[in-house]
Amino acid sequence: MKLNIKNIFINELPADPDTENSIRQVEKAVFSFVTPKKTAKSKVIHSSIEMASELGISTKEISSNYFKNIVTGNQVYPETKPYAMCYAGHQFGNWAGQLGDGRAINLFEVEHNSKNWKVQLKGAGETPYSRNADGLAVLRSSIREYLCSEAMFHLGVPTTRALSLSLTGDQVMRDVLYDGNPALEKGAIVSRVAPSFLRFGNYEIFAARNDLKNLKILVDYTIKYHFPNIDSSSKEGYINFFKYVSNRTLEMIIHWQRVGFVHGVMNTDNMSILGLTIDYGPYGWLEDFNFGWTPNTTDNQNKRYRYGNQPNIGLWNLHQLANALYPLIEEAKPLEDILNQYKVDFKIKSLQMMQSKLGLFTNDDDDLNLIQQLEDNLHLEETDMTIFFRLLSDFTDLPSSLEIMSAAVYKSNNIPKDFKKKWGNWFSLYSKRLLKESFSHRQRKQKMDAINPKYVLRNYMAQLAIESANEEDYSLIDELFQLLKNPYSEQPKNQKWFAKRPEWARDKVGCSTLSCSS
Ligand code: AMP
Ligand code: MG
Repeated sequence: MKLNIKNIFINELPADPDTENSIRQVEKAVFSFVTPKKTAKSKVIHSSIEMASELGISTKEISSNYFKNIVTGNQVYPETKPYAMCYAGHQFGNWAGQLGDGRAINLFEVEHNSKNWKVQLKGAGETPYSRNADGLAVLRSSIREYLCSEAMFHLGVPTTRALSLSLTGDQVMRDVLYDGNPALEKGAIVSRVAPSFLRFGNYEIFAARNDLKNLKILVDYTIKYHFPNIDSSSKEGYINFFKYVSNRTLEMIIHWQRVGFVHGVMNTDNMSILGLTIDYGPYGWLEDFNFGWTPNTTDNQNKRYRYGNQPNIGLWNLHQLANALYPLIEEAKPLEDILNQYKVDFKIKSLQMMQSKLGLFTNDDDDLNLIQQLEDNLHLEETDMTIFFRLLSDFTDLPSSLEIMSAAVYKSNNIPKDFKKKWGNWFSLYSKRLLKESFSHRQRKQKMDAINPKYVLRNYMAQLAIESANEEDYSLIDELFQLLKNPYSEQPKNQKWFAKRPEWARDKVGCSTLSCSS
């Protein structure tokens, strides 16, 4: 396995001079060198051939012992120096101080086909940032991250990627329900990949410590390597940088809203500076369309990170980033203007996104109203988001609308009269509105089916894969992995995955709600 290694990140950014792997506050450094922990008896249970080829790793190499040793942290690739990053964050709206890569260890930087990638292990042992935890990850949360990040990539949502999923052979103690009943679970490691794992929190920590020298070094580095069309490290350059980050963050969140993804923990330490979906924890997929839903039980009280609030939280997080960048700019107005523009752009882009889900590709003054009514209707009864929007492209007349609704509504017997009336009204408005479009039904269907996925990683699907994997059957991981590579295609043999959540999964832990335990 010959990789084209680069060491730009570790050579250009300040390292923690202390190389002792002990828990501490790390100042004036972007990262600390640390070696992954050796594992008992590791085994790679799945790899992404697509991701491997992006790194210049062949399918044959993936099955080698050497690959296994690298992606489980048992061997360090020659001429590389693994490290953990130092960052802070606002968690659930409160400043949390230093956090850092508590269980992520960056292995190396690879350049292939003119792309630069960082490869990182999640769950490979303690780092100086592990605080009071063990630096490890369990199989269930690793399967969830592995499957979902690749699924998001294939959905066209900006995201970090996954290269491999391995068992460590070690046991890890976790209290899944946080109810004082800890138990041993299988330890696992996901190797994940991104052009950068830098987060808002990486910038916040220097600003909070008034370390402007290193703040500037980090921002200059980020601009140079990740935003090369920004001119210089001038005040204008920094404003521009913030503008780009704001745009990318909004773009990512609009995609989440389009596919019904709820991140669950949008703390500023989980916000990528590149606008990538990062840190798949207690995330979830909307089954019934519900702006108020969050999968995260830790957030049950306030539901800060609920589906309908994600765009607002993106803005709140950008506000924290603006505060962190302020010392380099020393003028609030341009930053405020960008934050205000986010609100304006959100309205425009969110409307466009919803129009495209409905197959509307021209503008009409009443579209906002049509969408508002649709969203109200979707909240009347439990209505499956994925099924509703996917089948909407089959709408032609009243009978077809009834078919769509009966497929998408959870309790299809005992539907109140009022419900039928409201949907009847809506479909009649929609039908009139479609007449204003120039595409034929066939063309419209083709376009809509490329926007409204047929297959997403429903919460219960991941849970089924986890349960089989716990019994050492990894076939469902592969089945779902393959399924989710083509989320917009009709896959007749996989029709069973285009179905409402089964009743048994309604309130089951892991299927409907999740804690942060991972
Ligand atoms: P999260 O909300 O999962 O993104 O994690 C918040 C912070 O807790 C990050 O700094 C993580 O690195 C850290 N963390 C979470 N789980 C562990 C663990 N098992 N060991 C060490 N650090 C952890
Ligand atoms: Mg995190």
